Amino acid sequence: ENTAFQKVVSHAKEYGFVFPSSEIYDGLAAVYDYGSNGVELKNNLKEFWWKAMTLMHSNIVGVDSSIFMHPTVWKASGHVDSFSDPLIDNKDSKKRYRADQLLEDKAEEYEKAGETDKASALLTKMNQLLEAEDLQGVHDLILEENITCPVSGTANWTDVRQFNLMFSTQTGAVADESSTIYLRPETAQGIFVNFLNVQKTARQKVPFGIAQIGKAFRNEIVARQFIFRMREFEQMEMQFFVRPGTEMEWYEQWKEKRIRWHKILGTPEASLRFHDHEKLAHYANAACDIEFQFPFGFKEVEGIHSRTDFDLKSHQEFSKKKQQYFDPEVSQNYIPYVIETSIGADRLFLLSLCSAYTEQEVGEGDKKKTRIFLKFNPALAPVKAAVLPLVKKDGLPEKAMELVDDLKYDMKVVYEEQAAIGKRYTRQDLIGTPFCITVDHQTLEDNTVTIRERDTTDQFRMDISEVRSWLLERVSM
Ligand code: ATP
Repeated sequence: ENTAFQKVVSHAKEYGFVFPSSEIYDGLAAVYDYGSNGVELKNNLKEFWWKAMTLMHSNIVGVDSSIFMHPTVWKASGHVDSFSDPLIDNKDSKKRYRADQLLEDKAEEYEKAGETDKASALLTKMNQLLEAEDLQGVHDLILEENITCPVSGTANWTDVRQFNLMFSTQTGAVADESSTIYLRPETAQGIFVNFLNVQKTARQKVPFGIAQIGKAFRNEIVARQFIFRMREFEQMEMQFFVRPGTEMEWYEQWKEKRIRWHKILGTPEASLRFHDHEKLAHYANAACDIEFQFPFGFKEVEGIHSRTDFDLKSHQEFSKKKQQYFDPEVSQNYIPYVIETSIGADRLFLLSLCSAYTEQEVGEGDKKKTRIFLKFNPALAPVKAAVLPLVKKDGLPEKAMELVDDLKYDMKVVYEEQAAIGKRYTRQDLIGTPFCITVDHQTLEDNTVTIRERDTTDQFRMDISEVRSWLLERVSM
């Protein structure tokens, strides 16, 4: 199953989707860059989300807040005090681990060995200790379970200590305590502190939502699984403000809406599931994740949280500015409750790649081979159509370029004339282009072109004048 994931990772690099950051300097751990195809896919995913939020809902509007925020924001939100993971070092290998991850891995081992009771007992105990902030207890549990370092093989562990995940830096020329600012670890707080600004200027009434797409930074202790866990990543968050007491209805509604969105995106139902949180964060009264079956198991792609009035109330306390809303329908002032949907654009990107990557056995006997293609929803595909003159002469390139010019204002198209036509089809398969359009000699006679479909490899002819609207119907969001 790891080889399945390795294939996706190398495919991503080889075909211009994802590169390690600063690769010529051997990369920077847990930081990645997107290539020519990657940036298109990522933009499409973001656009798909943005449209689903702000076009499909008249009561959801957007913001774009700064990465830097007043440092007190992070005191009010609880991040300065408690946005941390329990850290442990192995004294022999000097390798650093997340204590909770070591225990979770152990539980997974039990699970795989069929010892389900042991696995769940271990997780329960771990959660109790973490909740009680009993770091010594977590340390003892690691020893009790005889967990060894995968590198040194020893159980020679340091104490467990909390490690804050926020990156900090300094503003201005003088570096002192008071000039410390943070790179935001989530986009949500930029929405909370703008709640009244947006509500008033967008003339919204509760219930309404604010959506935002933007970078977030976390100094993750261990970076694993490619772009699944990065130190710099992008979040797509929507905070939905509701009347207190109605939050559970809205929580259920947003769970439904979000899972439906994933299905519309083309993710198979069987590879999606909800995971309800038993252990709730300090701000939540209900929370679940939408998990996707990655090649390394079911893992979170999106969180849906009922955050109560925790954030707005806390900002009211710290800022001394009222965060109340007057609800004309019930003639009451209150601090709204919040349902949040939060998804990582990069993690969704990884989901899309994993779910699109397809190997298909084709041909018979000696001609048997594996065809690899990316089965993206056409609306997500980096390139919507490739226009290919069959040969590089007889006026075919000119005719093909005319078609490119007709299409390029509406969608991402590429023109390619190098190599045999079969090879060009294969290249487009590898980046997930849903349609190839071939211009041949017959085109000059009757104005028809050949359309070749990625998934079926079926080919048929169509009048050139119909191509644009035919494509638009299939590749639009
Ligand atoms: P995890 O348990 O995986 O650390 P989390 O529960 O801390 O995630 P949230 O704070 O709820 O995650 O963030 C919401 C979403 O942001 C996640 O569902 C995920 O898609 C994305 N995300 C969070 N951390 C990272 C990261 N380090 N790299 C990439 N995406 C991330």
